Amino acid sequence: MMDRKPLLINGVWQSAAAGSENINPSNTNDVIAVYDRAGVHDTRSAITAATEAAPGWTAASPQLRHDILDRVGNELLARKEELGALLAQEEGKTRPEGVAETARAGHIFKFFAGEALRISGEKLASVRPGIEVDITREPVGVVGIITPWNFPIAIPAWKIAPALCFGNTVVFKPAELVPGCAWELTDILQRAGVPAGVFNNVYGPGSEVGQAMLDDPRINAITFTGSQATGARVAAACAKHMRRLQLEMGGKNPFVVLDDCDLDVAVDAAVNGAFFSTGQRCTASSRLIVTEGIHNRFVEAVLERMRGLNVDNALAEGTDIGPVVDEAQLQQDMRYIEIARREGGNIRQGGEHVSRATPGFYFTPALVTDTTPQMTINREEIFGPVASVIRVRDYDEALSVANDTEFGLSAGICTTSLKYASHFRANARAGMVMVNLPTAGVDYHVPFGGTKGSSLGSREQGRYAVEFFTVVKTAYVRP
Ligand code: ADP
Repeated sequence: MMDRKPLLINGVWQSAAAGSENINPSNTNDVIAVYDRAGVHDTRSAITAATEAAPGWTAASPQLRHDILDRVGNELLARKEELGALLAQEEGKTRPEGVAETARAGHIFKFFAGEALRISGEKLASVRPGIEVDITREPVGVVGIITPWNFPIAIPAWKIAPALCFGNTVVFKPAELVPGCAWELTDILQRAGVPAGVFNNVYGPGSEVGQAMLDDPRINAITFTGSQATGARVAAACAKHMRRLQLEMGGKNPFVVLDDCDLDVAVDAAVNGAFFSTGQRCTASSRLIVTEGIHNRFVEAVLERMRGLNVDNALAEGTDIGPVVDEAQLQQDMRYIEIARREGGNIRQGGEHVSRATPGFYFTPALVTDTTPQMTINREEIFGPVASVIRVRDYDEALSVANDTEFGLSAGICTTSLKYASHFRANARAGMVMVNLPTAGVDYHVPFGGTKGSSLGSREQGRYAVEFFTVVKTAYVRP
């Protein structure tokens, strides 16, 4: 019988009535560990703890906040190999991808450690004589953080670090499938000296723990990353409680390839954007929109490159694409392949569940050609290593197809034309635009987020994070 990894509530490790096994998607016989699973009661205790700890943390010196966040960042960086391997083991992206994600989380904590020392205000002259006006930023209070499984350490980092940096207390609910990274991060925060109640980890099911967070009026703000369906529930609950919210949801990101592009750059960016991290990125390039003159050459070159991709155990040396995260996701990927076939798409390669030395959710990257913008696979987020190709006449049609989606997270173009690159940058309806780069893969110190159905609320990451995690106060003083 394995020891269970406990919850952290009010600075104390606590066990719960039930636990969940963390299963390795590269080898379903491998139970990584068992994690205590919070229920509604634990969630309410965590919210109470965060509420009571808020005044003390708000008043804590920026130096203390800096030092704690900096220690967390240092430990993540020092242990990136070990934690990156755990990430790969529980989520299924490759070990190098897991290590890079852990390093990113470390850098995020160190960035916000610095920001804790730079919280500034403004002082203006009043329009009325003899009066002073100043504008300061205060913490929002108790922040609820609900995260998905696809970036098990980076997404928690980019929500937890700014929340703590700006003086908020946190109730954190990681995704069901990835308790391991969340637990390690919690342990690191605890040992780094976060005071009791300031940070709480209530790992557990969304329908219970997440819902209990949504229903509790003591939570002042919720930042959520996940599906549109859950995002809509979060938004409705936040409207009911008049509570601040920040949502990051899916994408159906276009990658436009023009006749004048450098073909090698286009193929690299398309293959990386569509298939790396097993295509399980909200910024994945799922729609490859290609002009006629280069279409056939591009498709053949992508197929050629795909044949060289090694789908295997996430921890094995030489693996390019790890397994998909679980059985449900595998079924979803295969269902979309079936739908694509039925609607007239041409499955040129991949899209199959394959076996490897260990039992796992191995799925070959798929390229579907001859698709039209109206087909289901070009409308709905698949969240797997599946890319479709849409053939278009020219740049104008490419832009209009690129924007023909309810999502608006990231949009890419591959071209050597300054004219088209500049026009696309200005007219792609997305929060992030990439020129001659994959739609996925972003820096940690600049804003991240989308438009339309992809995002709601102010931006995450970089200096823009201050908008969500603080409230502005304007003070008038007659000295
Ligand atoms: P994904 O498809 O990425 O798992 P979900 O939206 O289902 O997206 O999950 C994202 C996060 O939202 C997870 O932590 C999940 O547990 C949580 N969640 C799911 N249902 C609810 C809910 N009713 N209330 C709050 N959180 C929820």
